[in-house]
Amino acid sequence: MVSNILEIEAVTVSFDGFKALNNLNFSMAEGELRVIIGPNGAGKTTFLDVITGKVQPTSGEARFKGKSLRSRSEHGIARLGIGRKFQTPRVYLNLTPRENLELCCNRNKNVLATLFKPTPTAERRTVAGLLETIGLTHKADMPAALLSHGEKQWLEIGMLVAQSPDLLLVDEPVAGLTDEETERTGDLLIALAQSHSVIVIEHDMEFVRQIARTVTVLHEGSVLCEGTMDDVQNDPRVIEVYLGEPLAEAHV
Ligand code: ADP
Ligand code: MG
Repeated sequence: MVSNILEIEAVTVSFDGFKALNNLNFSMAEGELRVIIGPNGAGKTTFLDVITGKVQPTSGEARFKGKSLRSRSEHGIARLGIGRKFQTPRVYLNLTPRENLELCCNRNKNVLATLFKPTPTAERRTVAGLLETIGLTHKADMPAALLSHGEKQWLEIGMLVAQSPDLLLVDEPVAGLTDEETERTGDLLIALAQSHSVIVIEHDMEFVRQIARTVTVLHEGSVLCEGTMDDVQNDPRVIEVYLGEPLAEAHV
């Protein structure tokens, strides 16, 4: 049996009585790449906020690898193995991609543990391997300020992976990218999904189609439906909630 890396049980988040999440139930298996979509205001960001400990549920519980996340700090949750990539890249622009990655590889790490821990994939541990994974080997030594928006996004994904999280949370990775960058981002996430569990929140439906195995649709703080891209795109309830916001090109 495949164990669940993440379980969200009946989570409600109230802001002054308004339920941003409403009795939400969700689970995903270890090693899964899951895409979450939903109209603006559906609760997607709040969902990630609960998982990372930025927001505490009003009721219900989130569990990661069987451990309750209740009352844990954001830092404590990150240490358990959950990494989050925000929408805007947060790289050091005056440093090179190599230097940015080196900082992350060393941060919060016991050097001996890093040396002697079994490494499932070499790329997770070495800067050179990470540079190759994110396709920035040829730009490794120029200031990050000179990278395109897409390249900065990949660098930040690399910086996240450098910290060896088991679960990667990625919020709208292709907003503002060119078509070619979007496709390469998809390839990168698919590659990372071979050694990580990944949750991607996204609005670009063509991109969702490229990467998605299972899609979860959020609406008004609850799961509306779940299935393959074809399942959800043909679900009358999904069409209904996206009415006036064409599914093919829905944006934030
Ligand atoms: P999404 O990311 O799907 O667009 P959000 O999770 O950001 O949705 O927000 C869900 C709902 O909760 C929205 O109606 C939003 O206005 C509300 N909300 C989010 N954060 C807060 C907050 N800190 N205080 C009050 N309302 C909030
Ligand atoms: Mg949001």
